[in-house]
Amino acid sequence: MSCLFCKIVEGAIPSTPIYEDALGYAFADLHPQAPVHVLIVPREHIPSMIDTDQSKQALLGHLLWAAAEIARNKGLSDGYRIVVNTGRDGGQTVDHLHLHLLGGREMSWPPG
Ligand code: AMP
Ligand code: ZN
Repeated sequence: MSCLFCKIVEGAIPSTPIYEDALGYAFADLHPQAPVHVLIVPREHIPSMIDTDQSKQALLGHLLWAAAEIARNKGLSDGYRIVVNTGRDGGQTVDHLHLHLLGGREMSWPPG
């Protein structure tokens, strides 16, 4: 398996763990774009949101909840942003579905 985030989930490539459970793993982004920048990934290899069907509903909900739980643990009570870059047009660069949790500064809108 040549997937970078699968290797991170397996521990074959080091990462800074933030949260983990049976379904997902969260770790610090290598190139943080905000004071808090965490990536939340499913343990299961799913390339992107494009590849999800109804069978992934509960998993996706769980990952979203995990992001909110991490934000609470990080004290992001003034808000934060959860981003899921998807496919080429969405600017996705790693083909293993992931949520970005960004916080600790004010975000601008619209994104680029
Ligand atoms: P995306 O552009 O949405 O696919 O996001 C990929 C993210 O993975 C980027 O924010 C990268 O900084 C991050 N990234 C790439 N390699 C690593 C790594 N080895 N450990 C942690 N984060 C990484
Ligand atoms: Zn993967």
